[in-house]
Amino acid sequence: MHPVRDRALVLRTHDLGEADRIITMLCYEHGIVRGVGKAVRRTRSKFGSRLEPFTFVEVQFVPSKRSLAMGSGAPGMVGLGTPFGSGGLAIIQQAETIETYAPQITGDWRAYTAACAMMEAAEHLAGGEPRILRMLVLAFRSLAEARRDPSLVAVSFMLRALQVAGWEPVLLACARCGVVGPHRAYHVPSGGAVCVHCRPPGALTPRQGTPEVLDALLRGRWDVVEAAPEQVLRQASQLVVAHVQWHTERSLHTLPLLAGEGDVRRHTQAPTGTPNRKDHSHGASA
Ligand SMILES: [Zn+2]
Repeated sequence: MHPVRDRALVLRTHDLGEADRIITMLCYEHGIVRGVGKAVRRTRSKFGSRLEPFTFVEVQFVPSKRSLAMGSGAPGMVGLGTPFGSGGLAIIQQAETIETYAPQITGDWRAYTAACAMMEAAEHLAGGEPRILRMLVLAFRSLAEARRDPSLVAVSFMLRALQVAGWEPVLLACARCGVVGPHRAYHVPSGGAVCVHCRPPGALTPRQGTPEVLDALLRGRWDVVEAAPEQVLRQASQLVVAHVQWHTERSLHTLPLLAGEGDVRRHTQAPTGTPNRKDHSHGASA
């Protein structure tokens, strides 16, 4: 196997043995790649410190046969159920930092939670789509700049990831019959808003304005989002998390934290790199 170069966001690392580290990366061209960085934990390692989570890198690696097969898989399937064995590990040879968001993200509990939720959703929704990496890099940059509420950055990202995976929620029409709304009822398994005739048992009745806020989040209309009441923003977040859970058919670890966060502030102006810890409560997901 010849080495290849790609750009990647480092998602996770696990120590292996005494000096090695397993790196999980989301690459532009190769999708989710799990690779081993040999001896990267030794102090003389030139690139070990660059392979940290929340870092955007130019990386050279020798792909494993399985990591190549994973990268060319269908969107939405990549990373699902892939066993974590040495047979699927690439060998990472070099890495150069393009941009790192680690200091700002790890220094702010809310940004950290949002970043973890986005990585988890990206990996399980559409890890093989090049657009996902671009979107994730932009979202991490936004978290690092701390201009917007971290939870809303994550929710907006997840809506777009659902769209890329082909699971965009139907918001302003009936998800079942297509009649133009707005409709009061909402049913995640049906795919979004539902009209009075199609409304199945178990459909929710979100607060007024929630589908419109979801639509604004999907389109990046931050003026609409930031003018919305907090209860509507929280419900919108819970619905997005419910969509992600539904489509990935799994309970993702960090998503409930995102949806249950008690205080969805509209503007986050914490200086970058300043710890901004906050208590949170676990709310019921939608
Ligand atoms: Zn209908």
